[in-house]
Amino acid sequence: MRDLSVYYCRSCGYYAYYQLPRHAVCPKCETAMQLMDIRYQDFMDLDYEERDRLICQEIIRSSSTLVQRICAPSKLYNQRELTARLTKEVLRLEAENKKLEETVEWMHQTIWDQLRKTKELERELEQLRGTDARE
Ligand SMILES: [Zn+2]
Repeated sequence: MRDLSVYYCRSCGYYAYYQLPRHAVCPKCETAMQLMDIRYQDFMDLDYEERDRLICQEIIRSSSTLVQRICAPSKLYNQRELTARLTKEVLRLEAENKKLEETVEWMHQTIWDQLRKTKELERELEQLRGTDARE
């Protein structure tokens, strides 16, 4: 029988043990889970807090440099500061996202206005041509 390996989900942090990589699919996110570079028994010997910390570090290591900067190792042990920084960053991104949506909305509106004007000009041109032809 094959040994169990430890897998975790990058999206939600869920972890579980499987024999085969193809079985390692997160039941919540339905995405492939990542293999952890630790023996099953070593992982089992850790307490829940240590497992959490290890998986947190894995998730951070495999994420963007922005996340890595916010979640510098020293802050991982200061949950208060980490939570505050993450909350601030989420708020900043929300504001930025809203601004981008407004810009896209404005661009759509401008394009529609331009199209309408173009149509109007075409119609006027058609009418002028029609008048010319009758004269
Ligand atoms: Zn998941």
